[in-house]
Formats: sequence, structure tokens, C-alpha cells
Amino acid sequence: MSTSDSGGPGRGAFGGHQLVVVANRLPVALVDGEWRSSPGGLVRALLGFLRPTAALWVGWAGTADEPQAEFASDGIDVATISLAAEQIRGYYDSISNDAIWPLYHDALRTSTYDNDDWRIYAEVNERFATRTAEVAAEGAVVWVHDYQLQLVPAMLRRLRPDLRIGFFLHIPFPPQELFMRFPWREEVLEGMLGADLIGFQRRVAAENFISLAHRLVDAEVVDDGVRTADGRFVRVGSFPVSIDIDEVAGIAADPVTVKAAARIRRRLGDPPTVLLGVDRLDYTKGIGERLTAFGELLRNRAIAHAVPGRPEVVLVQIAVPSRENVGDYQAQREHVEQLVGAVNGEFATLGYPAVHYLHRSLPLDQLIALYLATDVMVVTPLRDGMNLVAKEFVAARGVGDGVLVLSEFAGAADEFTDAVIVNPHDPHALVEAMETAIAMPRDEAIRRMSALQDALLANDAQHWAASFLEHLVR
Ligand code: UDP
Repeated sequence: MSTSDSGGPGRGAFGGHQLVVVANRLPVALVDGEWRSSPGGLVRALLGFLRPTAALWVGWAGTADEPQAEFASDGIDVATISLAAEQIRGYYDSISNDAIWPLYHDALRTSTYDNDDWRIYAEVNERFATRTAEVAAEGAVVWVHDYQLQLVPAMLRRLRPDLRIGFFLHIPFPPQELFMRFPWREEVLEGMLGADLIGFQRRVAAENFISLAHRLVDAEVVDDGVRTADGRFVRVGSFPVSIDIDEVAGIAADPVTVKAAARIRRRLGDPPTVLLGVDRLDYTKGIGERLTAFGELLRNRAIAHAVPGRPEVVLVQIAVPSRENVGDYQAQREHVEQLVGAVNGEFATLGYPAVHYLHRSLPLDQLIALYLATDVMVVTPLRDGMNLVAKEFVAARGVGDGVLVLSEFAGAADEFTDAVIVNPHDPHALVEAMETAIAMPRDEAIRRMSALQDALLANDAQHWAASFLEHLVR
């Protein structure tokens, strides 16, 4: 690792970067005092794209008071931002995850709006902008990511008008009725409008943004974007995010993974049908609704077959621990675990659970073995920016069978119209969608999976990044 001080705009040792990515988190994490690449589907895919471009990544180190550093790791240059515990609480836990996150996800939980924490959010955004302004080369392209950094584009433009600035929002952008609740709504719009290009996952989000910018900050609606009150053109569009398809397909084709999948199936007791859910333990993911529907499905089947015994259909639910110091997440965990207990209490037999519940994160190879061991992948978030798990499942299954049940409220539903699309708010529809998937004839499952493959192949992560950056520099 090498560290260095930068000597003003574009002139430090780290000053030569023509492409700078700015995101809350880094593509590396500190493990036992050493920076190691931190896996995460999208980050991995982005890195593959960025490495040959000699890009720089600016982000928070992930822990409190970690001294600021600049170094190269895993083929990319990194500039870290140091945050104190109180800044992390105000900027990350409070405003990002307890105000913006719930509001942007259909207000599924009540947001908490704290004025002092908003000041911390703005101060941390300013820190990101200043750090980026120090390290970006003259005329560089800067790509700012996500809801934690919505003020950065305008702050950065004030510091460095020479830069080409793009902003991409990975989560949904809400309709007017909801966004109007946000106490600092004009600040957010003006912050994002500092960019030359603003990208969203779905067309509907771009439309929400354009109409709000028109209504609240006098932006004029023009072709492909808006003209701001001060006369700048800002392009606004949808750029659905994707995965590294080759990586997932490669692991899925490895005989070691295929064997692991067969082993999983045996360990589940070789049931006729395996359903799988893979989610962060987040209230947006609809895990509770899914478990309730699964219980109902087993109840209907118990009546139909009238044969008590091993569950014929089992659900494997991976619930990745998430944001455990935000109250709504603790409540969600209790709710989900209570439901797992209730369904198993009613339908498990000794040695044969109906729900196999793991509260942990699995490495990608084990996840892909699970995708292969599954008959029906149940991706039923109440609201989700994209949902990469749905895309990974399709990449893993290749030209085979396997059925995807997909919420119409996940961004992936725009591309995956051949999935079994469901409204996860409708308990009856959820049970029916699972039943349809379980009963689907194999030739229909193969036909649908092949259509899903085509949709996936049209847009992998490299294509996503290249397309966004092309539009930005155009
Ligand atoms: N993931 C993982 N291990 C797990 C569960 C999930 O590595 O045990 C990864 C998964 O491969 C995917 C990501 O976490 O790339 C989840 O992305 P998604 O868009 O589905 O949901 P998010 O968590 O970003 O809301």
C-alpha cells in the first residue's frame, strides 16, 4: 500500500485520474488492518470495467475514525474518506437509512426526519465533494453513486466546474405524492441537478424526477432531460443495472458447483420441490409476506392431499444481516423469525423442516449452488431498485429450467417480463404465483427461462457502465 497527499486540484500523486467513481463504500474493506477487496456483485462487475481505465474510487472506509489514505488495491486506485462515529450515525444510519431509504421505497416504514442529522448529511456530502475535487484531474469524468450522496453533484460542480459529472441512483425514486414529504426536497433536487447526467434504474423513476424538478425548482422539461433555472441542460434517463453474467455462468458450469447443488438437494431430504428466497433482511424485501404465503400454500396442499408427512415443498430462505442498528430492521428480524417458527411449527416433521432459514451471508459460489438446487426462485420485494439476485438466478440457470417468481415492484420486472410476475402486496396472488410456478410444465419453464436469458444477455454490468459513461461524455 502507498499513501500520499494530493497537492490541490488534479496535481497530487493521485491527480492524474480521468475517471473517478464516488460512492459511499469502497470496493475494498479493512480486514485485520489490511485492505482486501470486498466482494459484492455490482462492485465486482464495476471493477472489471474500471481496471483497464486507471480509475480512482473515492469512498468511506467503512469504520469510524479510520485515517484518510490513498493507495492502489486490486488493480484500482482508492482514496478513502474518514468519518467520525457521530457523522456515520447522522449521515448513514439516520438520514440515509432511516429517512431517505424508507421514503424512496414507497414509505413502507415511517421516515424519521432530524434537522441536526440533515446538517451532518450535508457536511459529509461536502466532505466527499471536497475530497473528489482534490483528486480529480482537469476535465475528468466523475461518476457519483446513490442516495447517500445526492448533494455531491452540485457541491462538486461549485468546486470544480471543469468536471463532467454523472449521478446514478441505485434505489427507486418516489412519485410526487411521497417525495413532497421530504423536508429538504429542494436541496436534494438541486444537489442532483449539479450533474450533467442523472441515471435511474427504471423509466418511471426518471419521469418522477423530471416532474418534481419542474414543479419544485423551476426546471424546464426538454427532450431527454431538463434545463435548470440557470440554463444548464441535464440529461435524465434510465440505465438498468446488471451483473457480471460470465462470472456467474462460469461458477454455475463448474462441476464442483454442480456437485454442491446435488448435495444441497440431498441434505434438504430430496423433496419434490425446492423454493428459494435470498435477500438482505430488509422490510422492503417482502420476506414476511412470502413466509405467510408459503404457509398458506402448505395449508392448501395439506387439505388437498390429506396426507401428513414430510413437506413436499420446502422453502430455503437466506436472510443476510443488515443495518442492525436501525430500529425497523431489528423489528423486521423478529417478525421474520417468528413467522419461520410458526410455519415450521405447523408443517415440519421430525428431521424435515418446511422452512430452512439461514441468517447469514453466503459466499457467491455457495449462493450459485443454491440457485442450481432450486426449482422456484421467489423474488418478491415490496419495492426494489433492481434486484440482482433475480439476475444471478437467471445467469446461473443458463439454458435450463427453473422458474422465477418476480415482484412487479422490482426494477428487474421491466426486463424480465417472462417471469411469473406477481403483486406481493396481494396475499392471494402470492400463493397463486407460487402454485403456478410449482405446477409449471417443464417445457414452458425452459421456454420462459430462455426468454429471460435473452433479456439478461442484452445488458450485463459492463454494458450498463459503458452505456452510462458514453451518455455522460457525449
Ligand atoms: N449476496 C451474497 N451472499 C448472500 C446473499 C446475497 O453475496 O448470502 C449478494 C448477491 O449475490 C447479490 C447481492 O448480495 O449480488 C444482493 O443484491 P440485490 O440487488 O439483490 O439486493 P440489495 O441487497 O442490493 O438490496
